[in-house]
Amino acid sequence: MNNKGPRDQYLIERYRRFLPVSDDTPVISLAEGSTPLLPAPRLGEQLGLELYFKLEGLNPTGSFKDRGMTLAVSKGIEEGAGAVICASTGNTSASAAAYAGRAGIRCIVIIPEGKITAGKLAQAITHGAEVLSVAGNFDQALNIVRAIVDKYPVQLVNSINPYRLEGQKTGAFEIVDSLGKAPDYLSIPVGNAGNINAYWKGFNEYREAGLLDSLPHMIGFQAAGAAPLVLGHPVDNPETIATAIRIGNPARGDQALDAAAASGGLIEAVTDDEIIAAYQLVASSEGTFCEPASAASLAGVIKKQSEGYFEEGDMVVCVLTGHGLKDPDTAISKGREVTHVAADLDEVVKILAL
Ligand SMILES: *Cc1c(COP(=O)(O)O)cnc(C)c1O
Repeated sequence: MNNKGPRDQYLIERYRRFLPVSDDTPVISLAEGSTPLLPAPRLGEQLGLELYFKLEGLNPTGSFKDRGMTLAVSKGIEEGAGAVICASTGNTSASAAAYAGRAGIRCIVIIPEGKITAGKLAQAITHGAEVLSVAGNFDQALNIVRAIVDKYPVQLVNSINPYRLEGQKTGAFEIVDSLGKAPDYLSIPVGNAGNINAYWKGFNEYREAGLLDSLPHMIGFQAAGAAPLVLGHPVDNPETIATAIRIGNPARGDQALDAAAASGGLIEAVTDDEIIAAYQLVASSEGTFCEPASAASLAGVIKKQSEGYFEEGDMVVCVLTGHGLKDPDTAISKGREVTHVAADLDEVVKILAL
């Protein structure tokens, strides 16, 4: 894209012609998007693939949610909202709180008790959101939020807000802008199933605009303990270490299944063990620290590769949806142990076997 100065840092300005905004829309931005598409040559060689990671953890609040939030909050303000509300497993609340703070409006966050990671909670509180923790799961929290917005003048900023998807589709635009084409496969974690639909919409709009010839196969991965789209029915008590995709009844599930099918892709499940193995692998062998849910995309690619799903040399982009620092507790509890030693040179050298 051509560089028009500081405002070009704002996603809404860069992709204005593809977004539902007008000159009257106030642009509430934190300079989101323009995230790197990092080649992963070592892992790619091991897998026989041309592998890339879309580093969405490098957005302003550390997840892709910022792409949708810039639009949802801007349009909310244009429509007169004085407050935003969301139910959240964490990243939506961190993002909503930051953008509402930037806009100077109230932010209300309803989170499921005990299931939000330290980094995300720290963000929501510090950005000034009013955080209510309900004794229930995400789906119950979302039901409460839906009932509130039906009755009170508060803007909903969960991904059932269509502006969220409009903003998030720009992730697909950026991938095509940097590759000059779509990859063969786009691999993405699936929770409430907004983002997979947003990417699919983005690729299709670029094709309709003549900026893209062929579409990618969309491959989405749920966590095995929270895999309603794979099982074919809602899951009452979703359980997974990947809290960002711990969702039992996705708001956009059917639409996601349609997108996967229409693209010649799939939606499958990966276990927590597979997720953690991929999470540690991408951090240790490619220098990229993502949160556990994000690693479901790579875990899925590794699993499908072992089943002979890909052709040698296929180009695969894994969307790494959020930053690893969001969830320090999982990193430390699953990671290598720290060795404790006296402040003594000989002891240190002995332990290191140098
Ligand atoms: C929100 C989120 C997801 C899931 O995205 P959906 O649109 O709900 O499918 C995956 N990873 C991270 C880090 C997230 O914050």
